[in-house]
Amino acid sequence: MIPYGRQHITPADIQAVVDVLNSDFLTQGPVVPQFEQAVAKLCHAQYACAVNSATSALHLACLALGLGPNDILWTVPNSFVASANCGRYCGAQIDFVDIDPITWNLSVSALRIKLAQAKKENKLPKILIPVHFAGQPTEQQAIWQLAQEFGFKIIEDASHAIGASRHNEPVGSCRWSHITIFSFHPVKIITTGEGGIAVTNDPELAQHMTRLRSHGITRDPSHMQRAPEGPWCYDQLELGFNYRMTDIQAALGVSQLKRLNTAIEQRQAIAERYNQLLKELPIQRPTILPGNYSAFHLYVIRLDPMQTPHSRNDVFKILREHGVGVNVHYTPIHLQPYYRVSGFATGNFPESERHGEQAITLPLYPQLEIEQQNRIAQILAEALD
Ligand SMILES: *Cc1c(COP(=O)(O)O)cnc(C)c1O
Repeated sequence: MIPYGRQHITPADIQAVVDVLNSDFLTQGPVVPQFEQAVAKLCHAQYACAVNSATSALHLACLALGLGPNDILWTVPNSFVASANCGRYCGAQIDFVDIDPITWNLSVSALRIKLAQAKKENKLPKILIPVHFAGQPTEQQAIWQLAQEFGFKIIEDASHAIGASRHNEPVGSCRWSHITIFSFHPVKIITTGEGGIAVTNDPELAQHMTRLRSHGITRDPSHMQRAPEGPWCYDQLELGFNYRMTDIQAALGVSQLKRLNTAIEQRQAIAERYNQLLKELPIQRPTILPGNYSAFHLYVIRLDPMQTPHSRNDVFKILREHGVGVNVHYTPIHLQPYYRVSGFATGNFPESERHGEQAITLPLYPQLEIEQQNRIAQILAEALD
């Protein structure tokens, strides 16, 4: 089975991990800060806080921005459940903004309408989490303007989008958000096995996330309640977690990061080849907005019943039967049983629901071979014939 995504590990990656295994520190050593600096530099942000998953990064970002049980968090239905769950960890209420039918990212016009309505009802969100779906940057500047107007905070879920940019502004620069998070799960663009990171330009948010990552503990005398009696002293100032990334993971990240640009160029080339191979087929292919440089984490197509009599589920089944490990990104979050309990139902977010019914994710990763891609296109063409 050709998977829809796969990590790429080189001998240099393996050596970097072995070097840490042979060193003094497997965790809380020098490599995590190295990785943090490298990611911050890459995306032109001031600070970075590496953690054990993007889910943890989202949780810490929500906490640092003060999200609590009386607050509301908005995200898009067309994402992985973690984009909403982070709000639930803080006890907040979740609501969603529908997506745009062309980019499949948050619809800025839907957001504007929903904000005006929420203001009237006194139900404005404290935090909005836009998601850079499939690696394509969201319209962050427009979203930021609405954040200024309506007074909410922004966490960019850039799990799909490390290395992407919009009008040459790297995703993660946080020019138009408070915090951006990335995922390093093996299906994502670069990996640390499991891992994630939060970047920000706000020193207090960075410090707070870093403290929460490690039990809410500080060793900085200037933050302690009284002068420390000795070097063993630390103060727990609040309830934190153990969300730390290990140096073993960070070493893999540092090594992978060196190939990021190449990896994205390869992804772009594969996506462009799909565009050519599939251009005669009755499907909707990805549309990248002018000025956007997508990281192409995913290559998603949509089967519109107005264009083809073949159902998504049938075509999906045929591809899987022929060894093509297609997937669906995403079944809308609001239709998950956990969220239906709070009252969400089919019909709430029609564009996300259409997407969830029509989307198929084709295999895309740097090591995908041309012959494999040809075969995938051939099988798809036959399934749609
Ligand atoms: C993968 C993913 C996450 C969660 O990442 P983990 O590192 O696995 O916790 C969150 N949001 C989106 C959009 C993702 O694709």
